[in-house]
Amino acid sequence: MTHALKSDTGSRNVKKLVRLGLGVAAAGAIVAAGLAPRVLAQSVPADAIAQTTALTTTIGQTQTLTVSQTEGPYFKTNSPERSALVTDSTQGTLLTVTGQVLAADGTPVANALLDFWQADASGAYDNSGYTLRGHQYTDENGNYTLTTVVPGLYPGRTRHIHVKVQAPGGPTLTTQLYFPGEARNSTDGIFDPSLVLNTQSNTDGTENATFNFVVQTA
Ligand code: FE
Repeated sequence: MTHALKSDTGSRNVKKLVRLGLGVAAAGAIVAAGLAPRVLAQSVPADAIAQTTALTTTIGQTQTLTVSQTEGPYFKTNSPERSALVTDSTQGTLLTVTGQVLAADGTPVANALLDFWQADASGAYDNSGYTLRGHQYTDENGNYTLTTVVPGLYPGRTRHIHVKVQAPGGPTLTTQLYFPGEARNSTDGIFDPSLVLNTQSNTDGTENATFNFVVQTA
């Protein structure tokens, strides 16, 4: 950010201010027209509503882009389209991850591609087939849901889920998601605390987690 501002020419700064001005004006118009509550009413989870409200107050301010990470050796193209990676025979702790894909200005990104892949509960990747691999697209409010199992540990890494995220027409973000409270988080050379899932354990032994991605859209 500092670099960008220092290297900006005067005219580019003017353009940036114009864009910010338009953004704030548009936000005001939305609120004045009473459109915001109707949009919020379509969002399902209460925490998503709170977040959308907070984002409304910061329109025009840049969100922090989700950090990119190495792809690792086990990505495969052409994963099946599915939001549930588990089958009746999948072993492990059922994990449901939900969240949104957002643009840098906080706007939800509809129809964004998310391609997940991960190790099974014993720490093994399926490199011959597509077990625990799948891609999906965000809905009209930028929401996604991943139904999977908590990945197992394998040598040299802490617990993680791989993902590629791409807004329509945007570049592909390759990154990884992590779990809180893992002993190996402190020794894993790739681990990034900004990529830790917000997890919740349920009384039935399953787990829920949330994570929002912020990506470039062009
Ligand atoms: Fe991995």
